[in-house]
Amino acid sequence: MIPPGETIGILGGGQLGRMIALAAANLGYRCHVYAPEADSIAADVCAAFTQGEYDDEAALAAFAAQCAVVTYEFENVAVEPLVAVTAHAPLFPPASALYHAQDRVKEKTFVEVVGGRPAPWAKVDSMDDLRAAVASIGVPGILKTRRDGYDGKGQWRIMQPSDVDAVELPGQPLIYEGFVTFEAEFSVILVRTQTGEVRFWDSAENVHKGGILDRSTVPAAPVILVQVEEARALAAKVADALGYVGVLTLEFFATADGPVFNEMAPRVHNSGHWTIEGALTSQFENHVRAICGLPLGSTALAAKGVVMDNLIGDDAHDWPAILSDPANHLHLYGKAAVRPGRKMGHVTRLVL
Ligand code: AMP
Repeated sequence: MIPPGETIGILGGGQLGRMIALAAANLGYRCHVYAPEADSIAADVCAAFTQGEYDDEAALAAFAAQCAVVTYEFENVAVEPLVAVTAHAPLFPPASALYHAQDRVKEKTFVEVVGGRPAPWAKVDSMDDLRAAVASIGVPGILKTRRDGYDGKGQWRIMQPSDVDAVELPGQPLIYEGFVTFEAEFSVILVRTQTGEVRFWDSAENVHKGGILDRSTVPAAPVILVQVEEARALAAKVADALGYVGVLTLEFFATADGPVFNEMAPRVHNSGHWTIEGALTSQFENHVRAICGLPLGSTALAAKGVVMDNLIGDDAHDWPAILSDPANHLHLYGKAAVRPGRKMGHVTRLVL
């Protein structure tokens, strides 16, 4: 067990790290952020900050030597250099989770092996591959980068076979996925301890706009609720197979044929931000508890319902109006520049 007072290392400097650090501070821990950017909004609320590249093994080793445990808030951290971290401190979730989650082909293959069902997919490394994928899987479909995609970035929709001719391959490995006709989207967020105990939060119904999460609502619609058990069973299998420690998120499409796996994130997740006020223990606090070997807190709902809205780009300028309603819980991430499509904060409302 890592007792309060010790230092937790966080790889990644964004809002997820910031909210992990705030939860850790409540439990009496210090946090040390490692991130490449000079101005990290996570480091702003932490005791220490190392600015370094994710492949700088000497800097990673020096950072980890100052931490009792290291976690990450960003799934595109390079895996190989993490040996420099694990030589000095335990890393939770394990690097194997990053390895599988940061490449869409590895992720889907892994999930299929443990019994999950993703959308039909094919690897695409050339125009010939793309034509073959579109011919076998059909249209509509989505061409995505295998790595480094998030919030709908690195995605191209193929509505008809002739759309392929207009595609300029970006020179990195891709995947073509059949478009899933879904009734709703939801996520399963679990926390797993070092001894294998697993707890789930209620599944939120997630609505995306332009590939970016817009709103998470709990409880989810009935069409989702009947599929949660099957989705949870898959998520638990994934976590067990990875020897996972910490918070793990799997996103699903609720379809007429049951839950279809979309993707997983080996970390706390935007669709779980509602847990800060809406659950007895937030995803951030239970992540800290799990990686430090503390007992988990209850994941039960703290209200009849919860709605979380993301503040994207200019939405953040509405903070005075948001604060004028006393029922709103406003979270601003402290990002200096407002940019279109950038997650600037979120607002949570409880249904009491
Ligand atoms: P992703 O980054 O892969 O989670 O994609 C972002 C969003 O795009 C998803 O939450 C869906 O709303 C939509 N999307 C992605 N892939 C598919 C798919 N194969 N079929 C239908 N919608 C998709």
